[in-house]
Amino acid sequence: AKSAGGNRYEVADAEADARAITRHGLTTALPMALDRSEFFIEYQPLVHLEDGTVRGAEALVRWLHPQHGVLGPDRFIPLAERTGLIVPLGRWVLEQSVRQAREWQERHRDKLGAGPLRVNVNLSPCQLTHPGLVQDTVDILERAGLEPDTLCLEVTESALIGADDEVLKPLRRLAEMGVDIALDDFGTGYSNLANLRRLPVSVLKLDRSFTQGMQQFPADPVDLRIVEGIVSLAHSLDLTVTVEGVETGAQAEQLRILGCDTAQGWYYARPGPPERLHDLALVDATG
Ligand code: C2E
Ligand code: CA
Ligand code: CA
Ligand code: CA
Repeated sequence: AKSAGGNRYEVADAEADARAITRHGLTTALPMALDRSEFFIEYQPLVHLEDGTVRGAEALVRWLHPQHGVLGPDRFIPLAERTGLIVPLGRWVLEQSVRQAREWQERHRDKLGAGPLRVNVNLSPCQLTHPGLVQDTVDILERAGLEPDTLCLEVTESALIGADDEVLKPLRRLAEMGVDIALDDFGTGYSNLANLRRLPVSVLKLDRSFTQGMQQFPADPVDLRIVEGIVSLAHSLDLTVTVEGVETGAQAEQLRILGCDTAQGWYYARPGPPERLHDLALVDATG
């Protein structure tokens, strides 16, 4: 009887634990997190490969969860997409990032030869189909006093594969206003290269998998030729090429030789607080 009682207690405890986990679980905590200001943004510099100057940064959202500490976007963006929170969260990220870019510009006026620092913001597919996207973006830019051409919106290749005109229309309007659209994680989907002409994109972001192939110096000749082909096609379509996941100087050098324009990765800087961009950009401008 004693041991049976013990088991019952164990079961009851396990159930209580499960409820507690659900109660504190990410799903239930997520909707409140925005009101509680638990999200924050780190910025990772985008570096011009030819001259090494910082030209801008990508905004990457994090969640400072009261129990679990800092959670990366892979832990909660899919959840936010399923629950619809991605729309207000994405709008918040856009607003913060645009204000941040404006602040960088004010601090750097006349100090940077390379023009104003730009900001890149990720858009989830749910935001693309949300009817408020264009007006929200216009309002956010106006409120901050930021020129549309210093904003770049990143959309993954997979979100645009097979996208019909309804989905492309808001992106076209944004592009006409001067906002850059980047095709993120390029090379991981199966989009037809010729299909690129149909999309209102001005930047190709080559996925990290390509950069990983450049770890050896010299890199595998087939890898080199693939990247070379993508870069020359992109340039012939007037697209800028950004490479992600650059972790070593050897990778940076090979990608520069291949004609890539901009690079991003741990070799330059990990994602960090917005103030750090001031220092990085100023070091470049003066030194
Ligand atoms: P992404 O857009 O492909 O962002 C690049 C990811 O690579 C970031 O991961 C970044 O921290 C990481 N990274 C940068 N340099 C290096 C490197 O040299 N080596 C390696 N191994 N990794 C590097 P993070 O911050 O965990 O973001 C993951 C993904 O979450 C992003 O992938 C993006 O798809 C999504 N995400 C981040 N912020 C947002 C957001 O505000 N909205 C939406 N919808 N998605 C976001
Ligand atoms: Ca991105
Ligand atoms: Ca990417
Ligand atoms: Ca990626």
